[in-house]
Amino acid sequence: MLDIDQIIRSRRKTIALIIQRDGALVIRAPLRTPEKTIRELVEQKKGWITKKQTEMRKNRPATVRQFAEGETFFLMGKSYPLKIVKRQRASLTFEQGTFLLAEKFRSLAREAFTRWYKQTAAILLSARIEILAKKHNLQPAKIRITSARTRWGSCSSTGTISLTWRLVMAPPEIIDYVIVHELAHLKVKNHSKSFWAAVALLLPDYKTHIAWLKKQGHTLDI
Ligand SMILES: [Zn+2]
Repeated sequence: MLDIDQIIRSRRKTIALIIQRDGALVIRAPLRTPEKTIRELVEQKKGWITKKQTEMRKNRPATVRQFAEGETFFLMGKSYPLKIVKRQRASLTFEQGTFLLAEKFRSLAREAFTRWYKQTAAILLSARIEILAKKHNLQPAKIRITSARTRWGSCSSTGTISLTWRLVMAPPEIIDYVIVHELAHLKVKNHSKSFWAAVALLLPDYKTHIAWLKKQGHTLDI
């Protein structure tokens, strides 16, 4: 029998099976659906689930980060090498296309990169939102940078747009798609036909960006 990693119940009408990027199986179900019904559905869809899980797991990076000299890191779709340096006060800097990590911070490299990406995302993504908001005349109430892993962006009912710092690793056109998607939510809250029509109006080739995120999204990580 297949493992169910998480069941999320809410006021929805149908059961949805979601295979996450790490291959985890998450079920979204209505409040009162018995667990037996969910198990039966999972059993019934076993073939599809295992096929999807294999696909997802295959797409994951094969190597774990070592934060070693020469390893590369993404910034706006381009990859830049890491250099370990002896004399540097800051744990991590980015100079002339190279990440410079102070040797004494090597054991804290992941934290240093996360902090650097968060700060950089706050600057670059916010600036891009402002440009696109002005261009399309859709003004968010607030901008927030999150640490979400699988959710690239979201738009609250009060008009706050949240983007994960991981998005700053993506190519510019992908960043623009996620921003435009969230800006369109300022007009249409749900993912109805009229929502996608609004997105298509702002970004006609948005479907290729969705496909890119599906296929390459897992690479936007450290
Ligand atoms: Zn959306």
